[in-house]
Amino acid sequence: MKSLRLKAGLLVDGIDVDPAALQGVGTRFKEQNHGLFGWDMVNHKGLNLPDDFVLSDGTVVQFRYNPVSPYRLQANNNGLSILYRGDVAGHAKLIPRPRFYDRLTSSGHPMRKIAQIGGEDCFFVCYQNYCSHFAGNEQCAFCNLVPTKKTYDAVLSKKGIDEIGEAAAAAFSEGMCNHILLTGGCFSHEKEVDLVCKIVESIRGALATDTVPGTILPSAATEEDDIKRYRDTGIGAIGYSVEIWDEAYYRAICPGKARATSHEDFVEAIAKAVRVFGSGRVYGVLVLGLEPRDSFLRGVRELADLGANVVPFVWSPNPGSRLEGHRAPTAEWYVGAVLEAGEVLAHSNVPQRDENHCYRCDGNSLLHDVLRMTSIDGRPNTAAESHRT
Ligand code: SF4
Repeated sequence: MKSLRLKAGLLVDGIDVDPAALQGVGTRFKEQNHGLFGWDMVNHKGLNLPDDFVLSDGTVVQFRYNPVSPYRLQANNNGLSILYRGDVAGHAKLIPRPRFYDRLTSSGHPMRKIAQIGGEDCFFVCYQNYCSHFAGNEQCAFCNLVPTKKTYDAVLSKKGIDEIGEAAAAAFSEGMCNHILLTGGCFSHEKEVDLVCKIVESIRGALATDTVPGTILPSAATEEDDIKRYRDTGIGAIGYSVEIWDEAYYRAICPGKARATSHEDFVEAIAKAVRVFGSGRVYGVLVLGLEPRDSFLRGVRELADLGANVVPFVWSPNPGSRLEGHRAPTAEWYVGAVLEAGEVLAHSNVPQRDENHCYRCDGNSLLHDVLRMTSIDGRPNTAAESHRT
């Protein structure tokens, strides 16, 4: 559990960095490419920073740059240490840079502007780096999708379907990827179903397989035919970004999204998706730290009752979002909340599948670490009880 507490602290407080620890970032080691949100506490245009790093026990941690953090990534003779107020709190290694980052698609676009690797093994594509909710200043309060695109302009806003397939073929041939993850900002529903299906089919064709290991995160589809269309692409799992479980908090924090998709719509979409994809193959994605612990845990219970799993991202008050400059809850709050969520899942009947999304796929959730660290025969044990003692 020591690394869980350390990871929670690193996500909540961010991390400063010794310039010597950045040697090889962008050449030997994977750099940030700002494919979706910027998760750092401050912008750093012109400074290449690691996307993430791995603790000694294999825990993947997102790198969230904060030059005034009490944590610091420090180079030493044996590698990299994590210091907390000057004392060694752990050790880390950076993640090798995928070779496809330097390759071009047949249209001449750098593949890293099309897709990136999340964590150690996830082929990630944001199929639209724009969201219509920004137009009326009704974007989710935690979101900096559009400001991040404006600041870094590091990726193509829209990617060619064939180019995504080419990037997938290159990435998977390196042997680094186990999963895919697709997401994008909100736009016309019909177009999105069509686009997402074509992208997955393009990836499936590139991999020359019948199925695609991974997860798609489209807008909530309440039409069963649309969900079946998604399933028939061969994708392993589907998730919906519910964001906030409590309905009133959801409407306040996500005004545009809540008008387009109500809490009830999400519940209906998830229930139908479980019927189509199967229990454990559907995720409710939440932003953790913006609503009370009890409503988050109510969400975990209700999602588990529906047969769905949960991915709760640790909120970052990132630059360009309406909540820039605010503070996340303490690391202890996060550890307590995710341990209790793990306990809920331990007593549910929802299979904890990692063939479609695993703890190595990203470094900004703590729950998959709880499930991994406490797993007995593939199911979490009484993690919350051990935390209380
Ligand atoms: S729906 Fe909300 S979180 Fe998603 S891209 Fe739009 S503003 Fe951002």
